[in-house]
Amino acid sequence: MHSNSEQKLNRICPVCLETRKEEVLAKQELLLVRCQSCEMVFADQVPAQYADAFYNEVADSLYLSEEKLQSDYATVRFEREIKLLRHHLSSGRILDVGCSTGAFLYQVKKRWPKSYDILGTDICQPALAYAKRQQVSVVEESFLKCDFGESHFDAITFWAVLEHLLDPRLFLAKAASLLKPGGFCFILVPNFRSLATRLLGAKYRYIFPQHVNYFTSATLRKLVGTESNWKIVEEGSCHFNPMVIWQDRKNKGAAFVSDQERVKLLKATTSYKQNPLLAPIKWAYNFSEKCLGATNLADNIYIVLQKQNQ
Ligand SMILES: [Zn+2]
Repeated sequence: MHSNSEQKLNRICPVCLETRKEEVLAKQELLLVRCQSCEMVFADQVPAQYADAFYNEVADSLYLSEEKLQSDYATVRFEREIKLLRHHLSSGRILDVGCSTGAFLYQVKKRWPKSYDILGTDICQPALAYAKRQQVSVVEESFLKCDFGESHFDAITFWAVLEHLLDPRLFLAKAASLLKPGGFCFILVPNFRSLATRLLGAKYRYIFPQHVNYFTSATLRKLVGTESNWKIVEEGSCHFNPMVIWQDRKNKGAAFVSDQERVKLLKATTSYKQNPLLAPIKWAYNFSEKCLGATNLADNIYIVLQKQNQ
């Protein structure tokens, strides 16, 4: 990776390191390309600022807005992730990489205070400050630079993180080195083969500059395959937000959706999920999420890995 005079990064494939790529989609200044070897889709000619300070700048308008915090700290927000964690690990030390305001760890600690030791890491300082105020332990250093010493974890989680990283392989390699034998790595990323992406194409709000990697279950599997020491123990597809499809279908010029509009929709979605009067709709909604999940068409894909004993 190197930057040219306009400070744009010319990327190689983040999964297989191939240099040959072809254009698949352009949305304003965002350019998506496909690796000619493994078919991974990723953003190319990325502004150099995305490599570092970017997330501190968006913190106030998005991560720390009241609506985003309410949505993230709502008990329903991380229910699928928590279920996945509980299914594989009933106690132990968890490291949440890209923990943002700490909402996932907060829920885990609140519900099972005696079972888990929690630690979060992120590069967004204002979000970490918020996490600390909620009694979530954090390290204020980027995951790659941080020396965790002798500590080995029973689980390392990447909830909606790898799509933001210019070099996700480095993060996975470090995660593999920090896990205890038998420990688990949980990964969740947006699904580039989702129903929403298929219906909306470039109009879809999650095709935007903050996402630099666009995984399918096949390319995510290839990425985790770069670590030979762990085994896939579960994978699937989850989450579905029909309101996003409803809103984004009207996005004629395929414009980027503002942070304000994002939080507005989050707020509406959270309140629908918590409204007891909408139970029948919720049933229909859960059913469609299940169908989409079964066909790998839901909004996100996840994969659970277990480190092998050597
Ligand atoms: Zn590739």
